[in-house]
Amino acid sequence: KRAVDHANEMSVRSLLFEGTVAPDIPQYTGFEAYRASGGYKVLERVRSGELTAVSVADLVLAAGLRGLGGAGFPTGTKWKIVHDLPGPKFLTINGDEGEPGTFKDRYHLESDPHRLLEGALVAAHAISADRIYLYMRDEYPAVLEILNTEIEALRSAGIITTIDIEIRRGAGAYICGEESAMIESIEGKRGLPRHRPPFIAQVGLFGRPTLNHNIETLFWIRDIVEKGPEWFAEQGRRGHKGFRSFSVSGRVREPGVKLAPAGITMNELLEEYCGGMEDGHIFKGYLPGGASGGILPASLADEPLDFGTLDKHGCFIGSHAIVVFSDQDDMRDAALNLMRFFKHESCGQCTPCRSGTEKMEKLLADGDWDTDKIADLDAVMRSASICGLGQAASNPVASVLKFFSEEFEV
Ligand code: SF4
Repeated sequence: KRAVDHANEMSVRSLLFEGTVAPDIPQYTGFEAYRASGGYKVLERVRSGELTAVSVADLVLAAGLRGLGGAGFPTGTKWKIVHDLPGPKFLTINGDEGEPGTFKDRYHLESDPHRLLEGALVAAHAISADRIYLYMRDEYPAVLEILNTEIEALRSAGIITTIDIEIRRGAGAYICGEESAMIESIEGKRGLPRHRPPFIAQVGLFGRPTLNHNIETLFWIRDIVEKGPEWFAEQGRRGHKGFRSFSVSGRVREPGVKLAPAGITMNELLEEYCGGMEDGHIFKGYLPGGASGGILPASLADEPLDFGTLDKHGCFIGSHAIVVFSDQDDMRDAALNLMRFFKHESCGQCTPCRSGTEKMEKLLADGDWDTDKIADLDAVMRSASICGLGQAASNPVASVLKFFSEEFEV
C-alpha cells in the first residue's frame, strides 16, 4: 500500500512540478552578484595552494563548525579523516531536509545558493574528492531550478572543472535524510539505513570513503575562511561557538528562519527574534529539535540551545527546528501525532521500529497511556533499532510523561 501511495504521490508531484506549473523562483543572489561580492576567491586560494587542505580543515576546526544537519560532529575532524583515506572519494551533500519543522536549508538555498556551492567545492578539494553528489529534496522545486541554473553557470565560467556536482532528487522519504539511507538512494537502491560500522567516512558511496555534509554546514565555509575562525566562534553565547539557523514555527508572533547565536536560550529566542508568543497564547513547551528531539516544558526554556546541552533532559537540538506550543495545545495529541509520523516514515527494515512505532501509536491512541507497556516498548525501540528513527521515535512520548504530568489529570 505504501508503494502505491508513494507512486500516486509522485505522479501528482510530477504533474505539479514538471508539467504545467512552473515553480515561483524567489529573488536570490545569482552567480554574477555573488562573484562581484568576492565569491569564489576562497576557492581560488585553496586551488592555488595558498591554503592547503590541512590548513583549511584547521580553520574550520578552530571555528568550532559542527555538522548542522543534526549530528553536530566537528566538521574539520571529518575532513581530516576522509582526507587521509585513499581515493577515489566522494563528497555527498544532504539537502533532503525532511525533519518536521525544519526549513533553514531551503531558506539559504533560495537566497544565497553560491555560498553552499563554493563551500562544497572547497570541501571537495580539501579531501581530494572525485565528484560531488547533491541529494536534494524534490518538494523544493524552486531550489532545484535555482541549483540547476547556477551549477550550469559555474560550468560555463570554468569554475567547475575536474570535480563536477551532480544533483540527485529525493523522492519524499524521511528516512533518506539518514546519511547511509541517502547513500543507498543515490546508488539507485531503496533507501534503507546501513548497519555501522563501517562508517560512511570509510565505506560510503559506491563503497568508497565519503564525506557527507548538510547544506548549512557548507554554507559557512566561505565566511569562516574570509573572516577568520575567531569571527565565527565569537558569534555564540555562553561559550558556544558560531551561528545557528533556527527554523521556528508554532505559536509565536514571527515564525521563520532565525539566524541566532549558538547557546541562545529558548526564552531569548522567543523574545529577541520571534516577537514573543502569539496574542492570547501562553508559552507551554517546545520541540527543540524537530520530531525526534523530544519536548521541553516552558520551565526549561533557559537552557542554552546547542549540541549536548539538552541530553540531561532526554532531548536534543538536532537540526534546530523549534516548534512552540501554548496553553491551547494538548501535548498528548502532539506526541501521538509525532508517533504517527514515525510509523508512517519507518522504512520497515527492523522489527523494533516497524512494529514498535505501530504498537506505540495504538497505545497512545487508546488514550489511557499504559505507562508500563510504553516503557517496555520504549526500551526495545531505543536499544534494538538499527538507526536513529527507531531509537528516538519515543522521545516525545517520554517527554510528555516526564514533563507534562498535568495533561493526565482529568
Ligand atoms: Fe528502518 Fe526504523 Fe530500522 Fe531505521 S530503525 S532501519 S527507519 S525500521
